[in-house]
Amino acid sequence: MKYKRILLKLSGEALMGEKNYGIDSNRLEQYANEIKKVKDLGVEIAIVIGGGNIFRGVQAEKTGIDRVQGDYMGMLATLINAMALQSALEQSGMFTRLMSGIKVESVCEPFIRRRAIRHLEKGRIVIFGAGIGNPYFTTDSTASLRAIEIEADVVLKGTRVDGVYTADPEKDKNATKYNTLSFQEAYEKNLNIMDMTAFTLCQENNLPIVVFDMNKTGNLEKLITGEEIGTLITSN
Ligand code: UDP
Repeated sequence: MKYKRILLKLSGEALMGEKNYGIDSNRLEQYANEIKKVKDLGVEIAIVIGGGNIFRGVQAEKTGIDRVQGDYMGMLATLINAMALQSALEQSGMFTRLMSGIKVESVCEPFIRRRAIRHLEKGRIVIFGAGIGNPYFTTDSTASLRAIEIEADVVLKGTRVDGVYTADPEKDKNATKYNTLSFQEAYEKNLNIMDMTAFTLCQENNLPIVVFDMNKTGNLEKLITGEEIGTLITSN
């Protein structure tokens, strides 16, 4: 196995599946199946999920809601997704714990680093909801920060494209994919892999990132077992 402890970042938008809004139960089930395959290999799994399918802080400003309030709404949106994912994982027979960046004691535990690590060691899948609990951050930053805190081997950024391209492959037909990249190259070429806060955290802490297509069956497992899937971003 290439990675023993992973931090999987899923976008909220991906949960919409074929729908225009909200959560698609087929997509949830699909993700649970993919995650189960790597769980069965003995991989320790932590997950951060976004909230873009429900609410984004920056949208709020357009509707007259102030940014900070909007960001808290966004954090709660990620918690809703996290709860949905938790349910799907448990229905597929996995043990899970949801930890929140803001206190919602009736729903889940607060994030406590040592506790999170203990859950992982016991084979539970840990989902980090509500981001890091502060406005002006993103779930990508949450993924980087939590990955460092729990000493994950890698951040796996599951997207709907199969890696990092020279240009947006959905707009530019001539775009080509990178198999590997250094943080420095990605920065110089202005490739939008994660927001700068998230990206810099990984770079400064030598934490590799893999961008890959999470919607393709078997991809996550292949990646874990060492196949060259997606784009690997490392220090050198
Ligand atoms: N958010 C925040 N602090 C955090 C994480 C998230 O304020 O630590 C808010 C922010 O408003 C963001 C929203 O939650 O827009 C949803 O997360 P994000 O847009 O990162 O989700 P994704 O695009 O991955 O679905």
